[in-house]
Amino acid sequence: MPAVITAREIEAIIAKGGDLNAATQDAILTPSAKDALRDHARVRGVSNNPSSSPAGPLSSKSSKADLEAFFNSATALALKEQLCDIGRRLWQREYVDGNGGNIAIRVGEDIAICTPTLVSKGFMKPEDMCLVDFEGNQLAGVKRRTSEILMHLQIMKQQPKAVATCHCHPPYSTGFAVAGVLPPTCMIPEFEVFASVAIAPYRTPGTPEMGKLVADLVDKHNTILMANHGVVSWSHNNVEDAYFKMEILEAYCRTILVTAQVGKPANTMTPGQLQDLLKIKQSLGIPDPRHGLKECELCDNDEWRPGVACAVPPKQDGSTGYDAEAEAAVKAITDQILAQMK
Ligand SMILES: [Zn+2]
Repeated sequence: MPAVITAREIEAIIAKGGDLNAATQDAILTPSAKDALRDHARVRGVSNNPSSSPAGPLSSKSSKADLEAFFNSATALALKEQLCDIGRRLWQREYVDGNGGNIAIRVGEDIAICTPTLVSKGFMKPEDMCLVDFEGNQLAGVKRRTSEILMHLQIMKQQPKAVATCHCHPPYSTGFAVAGVLPPTCMIPEFEVFASVAIAPYRTPGTPEMGKLVADLVDKHNTILMANHGVVSWSHNNVEDAYFKMEILEAYCRTILVTAQVGKPANTMTPGQLQDLLKIKQSLGIPDPRHGLKECELCDNDEWRPGVACAVPPKQDGSTGYDAEAEAAVKAITDQILAQMK
């Protein structure tokens, strides 16, 4: 009977600096043990501190033997299983069609494990996964890597916080992408807190030009509508979180369309209410171009609510005649008071 290994045992092995590969080789891992292995791999993979692991972080310059050993390790298997799991969820929710969609997880300085080409995301097996460097060269794996990998890698290159990326074609969100319209804001908290959406123009899928247009947006956005194509997201947490962006955006776009059919104008949250959500967003480390904006600028979306104007008067900049006069008056009064005190 193979041994069953729990998360606590994984943690004990890591704490003692033991050999995880040897310990987990023929063993059955509990789900939380797999999570512990994954977290360990992520920390090891993105750490800049070589002392965090005897071998240091893996990179495209690691030896072929080291890369193969990692790719065949229990740690990598746990990540491959996560990719299969997310693929199944994308397919079950009808966010992918044919062999569309692709997912990647950063596993080192400039390497990632990604999904293969020409396989339905609903029916992938761990052994289908591929290891690539950040130029898209395949380093390990039997199946060929996805043709759209460059976009994922360009996101990871541009955004060091991106540990995982997810691309698919969810119909409601893609509808907005085809129309070239950003979903309106100030309606549902989930969307405001977890997603920061922008639109990238259309280019042929899989080309470096497409990847660059997306990568240009990922400093301030984690969910990019790709015009006439689909959506790509990245997460600073893990691959499931990258997938969550899809669920959140798709549910939101669907709800917006239902709202439009109800026949009453939509109620929106106030700028103050939105500001509170943005504070939560910032504390979670999620980027948003609206961080630091004034309340009055927050729900001012011309495209969807034409004529919305900033209700807060602009601050005086100190150079106007009015301010100069006011300052002179204040000075005169202050002088008078000081004179009386003498
Ligand atoms: Zn696609």
